[in-house]
Amino acid sequence: MIYSHSRLKKFEQCPWSFFLVYVKGQKEKDNEMMVTGKVVHKALELIAKDSTLSTDEAMFKAVMEEGTVVIDWKFAKTMTNIGRKHIDTFGTAIKAELHFQLPLDPNDSFSSEVQGYIDIVNEQFLSIIDWKTGFKEYKPLEAKQLGLYAWAVSQIYGVDTVEAGYYFLRYNKWKDYRHTYTKVDMEKAKQWAVNLANKIEQKLVKVDIEGMASEEVFKKTPGEACQYCPSAGDCQMDEIEKDKAQGIDTLDPEQINVPETYEKAQELGGLVLRLDAASKKIKDCMKAFVEQTGEGIIVDEKCWDFYPTTSWNFEAESKKNLAVMLANRGENPWDMLNFGARDLTKIKKILGIIEDDELRKLGGIPKSRSSFKAMSAQNITVKKKRLEKKESEEEKMTA
Ligand code: SF4
Repeated sequence: MIYSHSRLKKFEQCPWSFFLVYVKGQKEKDNEMMVTGKVVHKALELIAKDSTLSTDEAMFKAVMEEGTVVIDWKFAKTMTNIGRKHIDTFGTAIKAELHFQLPLDPNDSFSSEVQGYIDIVNEQFLSIIDWKTGFKEYKPLEAKQLGLYAWAVSQIYGVDTVEAGYYFLRYNKWKDYRHTYTKVDMEKAKQWAVNLANKIEQKLVKVDIEGMASEEVFKKTPGEACQYCPSAGDCQMDEIEKDKAQGIDTLDPEQINVPETYEKAQELGGLVLRLDAASKKIKDCMKAFVEQTGEGIIVDEKCWDFYPTTSWNFEAESKKNLAVMLANRGENPWDMLNFGARDLTKIKKILGIIEDDELRKLGGIPKSRSSFKAMSAQNITVKKKRLEKKESEEEKMTA
């Protein structure tokens, strides 16, 4: 099998989802954000290859080539223009969508291969850009994609260091998302790919040659990936059926109790993630029905329909004018206005405020609350503690 970063990542997140998509060939349905991402990427590739194209021309071509429709054209165009400005700063020494396909072990003629398409390679400085159109921001070393791409560039161009970075087009941010990959960094990313590719190969042998049940070998691993998983509905139904066979009705609140063990609690956590994903999919289907028919769906006392809400945004100057108008009427504008979390971050940066205590001294009153939700466990101490506990338990068992 030829691997790519997205294939390996899918396997790392949920082996069963990987099996369904890349072994069984199940189609993944793009959501609106993915479609926009594809068109923006394609348009930027076309612009990088032919700078005479206008942004609209490039986007129309991209839509035709991708065979898709962008819902929010204006925002997609804004993102494309942001990327375009960045491309313009490079001059002509760039390659767009550089394709690579390399053996993970060059000394083994049967080695698995890894391939990828690098959005932009600046051949003058040997640096890489990967466009990001999604909401999530992360640093280069928090994922393996850029490390793997940097390794590929180091192999192709014969260099020991490669600068690589993400460009978050939605937020027009890139400066803090760069890293100069050393040989050690690149080797780590490549080793990540080798380890996962080996695991996949071993599992495929178990299924194809030893005849083991695919579901036993490629385990379902509920998590963040469930949100975008094309099989979320089926996956959830399978689990419900399995539980039913054991006399448990997963959807009966009466049968759900405070879990007695950590493993049971994890099962419940997984159940909620899959239910959320299935519920999102159901809602998307209902939305499509209402869009097509124009008819709200009445269920008992409730009606599913589109209910418009309007929020207002004021430019800084207009806000100032509004505040002056209020002040002229004898009102304190700040009784009605407040700082959002992002504004406060900016204010702290401008005033050089580091400690929260300084905010208190300035009259800030902290309001803290905690909400129960699932967040990325990547950097969470609880995950580290859990792993340490598990390792020490395993050590005790083997001692
Ligand atoms: S819904 Fe979640 S657990 Fe099920 S296959 Fe998809 S990613 Fe895996």
